[in-house]
Amino acid sequence: MNNLYLTNSLNNKKEVFNPINPEKVSMYACGPTVYDNPHVGNARALVVFDLLFRILIEIYGKQKVIYVRNITDIDDKIIEASKNKKIDISDLTKTITKKFHNDCKSLFCLSPTKEPRATDHVIGMIKMTEKLISKKAAYESKGHVYFSVASFKNYGMLSNKNPDDLNAGARIEVSKLKKDPLDFVLWKPSDKSDPGWDSPWGRGRPGWHLECSVMSEKYLGKNFDIHGGGLDLIFPHHENEIAQSCVYNETGKFANYWVHNGFVTMNKEKMSKSLGNITTIEEATKKYSGQVVRLSLLSAQYKQPLDWNNNLLIEQSKTLNKWYSMYSSEVSEKIPDCFNDLLDDMNTPLYISKLHELFNQAHKGDSEKKKEFNKACRLIGLFCETNEKRTEYKKNKVKISEDIILNKIKDRDSAKKKGDYKLADKIRDDLSKEGIELKDEKGKTTWNYK
Ligand SMILES: [Zn+2]
Repeated sequence: MNNLYLTNSLNNKKEVFNPINPEKVSMYACGPTVYDNPHVGNARALVVFDLLFRILIEIYGKQKVIYVRNITDIDDKIIEASKNKKIDISDLTKTITKKFHNDCKSLFCLSPTKEPRATDHVIGMIKMTEKLISKKAAYESKGHVYFSVASFKNYGMLSNKNPDDLNAGARIEVSKLKKDPLDFVLWKPSDKSDPGWDSPWGRGRPGWHLECSVMSEKYLGKNFDIHGGGLDLIFPHHENEIAQSCVYNETGKFANYWVHNGFVTMNKEKMSKSLGNITTIEEATKKYSGQVVRLSLLSAQYKQPLDWNNNLLIEQSKTLNKWYSMYSSEVSEKIPDCFNDLLDDMNTPLYISKLHELFNQAHKGDSEKKKEFNKACRLIGLFCETNEKRTEYKKNKVKISEDIILNKIKDRDSAKKKGDYKLADKIRDDLSKEGIELKDEKGKTTWNYK
C-alpha cells in the first residue's frame, strides 16, 4: 500500500500524511448549522470526509481513527429561522438534526466517532474566551468580546493573505465596537427572548468560530491531524479557528493538515441557500437513490467543482444498475491495487474508471475479479444495499425515461397556454399513474418520483 497524500490548504501542496500518533489518528470536520434542510452542497462535504474516514480506517484500523463532526445548534441563523418560521428554537434544531441524520444514513455515511453539540460546550467556550482576554488577545466591548487579530502574527496563513488584503474583503462585519475591522466576535449579548448563558460579560452566546476551536480541543487535543470543511469555510471561519486556538494553545499549533472540498454548482453557480438554487438531500435521494447521489458526489475529485444536473445523475444511475448485476456477498480480502488512487489525494474519478475496468473483467467471468470489484465498491461506500433490496427498489421506480417526462411536461404547458385544461390534467394524471409527480412552482414545472 502506498502512502496517503492529501493537498494541504496551508501550503496548497500535496503532502504525505503522517499522523501525530498512528494509534490515534484524529480528524475534525465542521458539521451543519441546523436551521434548514441540508442540501446537496452540504452533502458533498459529508461524503468527501466520510470517504477520508473510510480510507483512514482501512490504513490504521477502525479503533485507531477518531472522527469528530460537530452540530452547530446555536447561531444567529438558527435564531432568525426560528423567528421566521415561528418555531421554538429547540424544536427547530431537533427537527433539522433528525433530518440531517436521516440524510447521512441515506447517503451511506458512517457515523462519526463523536458528534458534539455546541450548546453542550458553552462552559468551555466561556473559559477559552476568559483565557484569551487574560492573554490580551481578546477584549470586551459593551457585552461583546472580540478576538484581536493583531495578537496573532500569522493571521492569514491559511487563506494565504495578509491582513491588509483581508481588510479589503467584503465579508467582514463592520462594527464600531471593534478596534480593528478584522477582529471577530467570541461572545455576544443575547436579547431576553433569545437563547443565552450567564457569563462574566453578561447573558449572551458564543460566536460560531469559537465553537469549533473548543469542541476540537476537547475531543482531539490542542494539536491534531486533519481539519476538514468546504472551501467557503477557509475565510473567515477556519482562519479564525486557527488564530484563537494557536494563541490559546501557546504552542502555535492546531491542525496539521487542512483539507477543503470544492463547491457543488448548478448551471455554473455555487449551490447555496442565499442564491436559492438548492436541491435538498432528501429530494435528491428520493428522486434517484442514496447510492446514486453518493456516486455522483464522488464522480469529481473532491477539490474540483462538481456540476449538479440530471444527466450526471442519470449516468450514475445507469452505472449502478449495471454494477449491481455483479453484486456478490463474496468479497475479496485483499485490498485492490486501485486503492492507491484513493491514497493519491482521493482521486475518485480515476478510481471509478478502474471500477469500470474491474467490472468488465468480472463480466467476462473472472471470479477473482468479481470479488475484487465487490471489495472496491464497498471501499467507497457502494454496494451497501444488498442486490435483493436494489432489485426491489428498482421495481418501485419508474420505467419511462426523463426525456419522455420532459416532453410530456412541454405538451402540458402548451395545452395550458391554449386553455385546454382537460388535456393538461390528463397528462398529469397519466404521469401520476406511471409514478411521476409534477409540481408547479413560480411558472415552472418540476417532476419527482412519488
Ligand atoms: Zn468549524
